[in-house]
Amino acid sequence: MTNEEKIAKLMKLTGYKECTCRAWVEFEGKCAYCGEDLISTAFRYFSSPTDHILPKAHYPDFEWDVHNSVPSCTLCNSVKNNLDFLMEGENAEEMLHIKKKELINRAKAKLEPKIKDRLRFWKGVRDIILDC
Ligand SMILES: [Zn+2]
Repeated sequence: MTNEEKIAKLMKLTGYKECTCRAWVEFEGKCAYCGEDLISTAFRYFSSPTDHILPKAHYPDFEWDVHNSVPSCTLCNSVKNNLDFLMEGENAEEMLHIKKKELINRAKAKLEPKIKDRLRFWKGVRDIILDC
C-alpha cells in the first residue's frame, strides 16, 4: 500500500483531517521528537497527541497546514508545549514546507535535556514506590 493509500484509508477510518493522517503515516506512528513507537499498544496510541511543530497558539494560520503536524508522545508534547523554534527573520511557511526536518531537529535539541530531567524524576518516583 502506498502512503497516499494509507492516508486515504486512515482518513476514512478515523475521520481525522489529512494533516493528522499524513503526519502519522510519514513518521510511521513514531514520536517525531524521540522516536518512541506510539502504535505498539492501544494505551500509547490513545495517549499520544498530534503536535504542531509551530504552536497553534503563536501560528493559528498553520494549525491545519499539512506540514505542521507530527505525532508526538505525551512526554515530548508536554515538554515542548508552546515553544517556538523559528528564528528571527525566518518565514514560517518556507521553514515548514522546505526545512521541516531542521525545525524538528531544533526541537529535539531543546527538548532532550528537559526530557532527561523528567525521566530522572519518573525514575525517582518509581524507585520510591517499588522500594528499589
Ligand atoms: Zn517523544
